Amino acid sequence: MKFLSLFLPRRVLLAAVFVSAFFAVSGAWAAELEVVASFSILGDFVRQIGGERVNVHTLAGAGQDAHAYEPRPSDARHIKRAGLVVLNGLGFDDWLSRLANASGYRGALLVASSGIRPLAMRDGSHGHSHDPRIDPHAWQDVANVRIYVANIAAALIAADPAGADAYRANAERYRAALDALDADIRATIARLPQERRRVVSSHDAFGYFSRAYGLAFLAPVGASGHSQAGARDVARLIEQLRSEKAPAVFVETISDPRLIERIRAESGAAMGGTLYSDALSAAEGVAPTYIAMMRHNLDTLMSALAVR
Ligand SMILES: [Zn+2]
Repeated sequence: MKFLSLFLPRRVLLAAVFVSAFFAVSGAWAAELEVVASFSILGDFVRQIGGERVNVHTLAGAGQDAHAYEPRPSDARHIKRAGLVVLNGLGFDDWLSRLANASGYRGALLVASSGIRPLAMRDGSHGHSHDPRIDPHAWQDVANVRIYVANIAAALIAADPAGADAYRANAERYRAALDALDADIRATIARLPQERRRVVSSHDAFGYFSRAYGLAFLAPVGASGHSQAGARDVARLIEQLRSEKAPAVFVETISDPRLIERIRAESGAAMGGTLYSDALSAAEGVAPTYIAMMRHNLDTLMSALAVR
């Protein structure tokens, strides 16, 4: 500016200052990037990395099953306005790429799990609509989330290059929190005796967690999927808990308190609380962010598995 003032009359210079101030202000406003994410856990990742520069709209919200999501008419409007659309991939949320196509969206579509080594699903009994051969729940291994974070940061930088420094700094901070979480999970499970590192769980969504952290999740005999278990399923489950010596059982599909009491009394297994796998809780709940969700699950597992 000092150099310019040698050549420009004062009035022109003032005008130039006003114009650049105007662009600085409008530029800051326009920098709010609209991002659509398929489900709550992914929405949290985008928020952590996007910070104040992004406005995240999550389609399958807290507590909602993203596998079986039914799009609403307003979703297409959100997608059309977006500068970036983020989905998990691995067959979890194919409906979002179909929805983006149908709504005429021409922007970037990020498959956040790109580069992750997928696990095979142990069987087709998950009870959801995704590809039965591939386990989509890759975020249950914190190391995979580092890959999600790198993919999301790169896509945000591509969509909003002016925010590159902010996105890199946020991603760096979040990676440090993820590393601390990963170390805590490992240290906590290491305190369990080897023979107690096994649970029976009705929701087959913890394959990645199991591989990463060495806790076996056995599928219950009978009471599987999302259907209510009957008395005969419960009898088979008790038999299984005894023969496999699983110290704890998580069967969210059994809500009848008499059946739960019977499992506890006859098998001696501890009845676990609720494990969050596919969706966060509401903001006031116990798992409003990914990191809070993983810590809640760890606490819940440990209170069922720790030797008393
Ligand atoms: Zn699932």
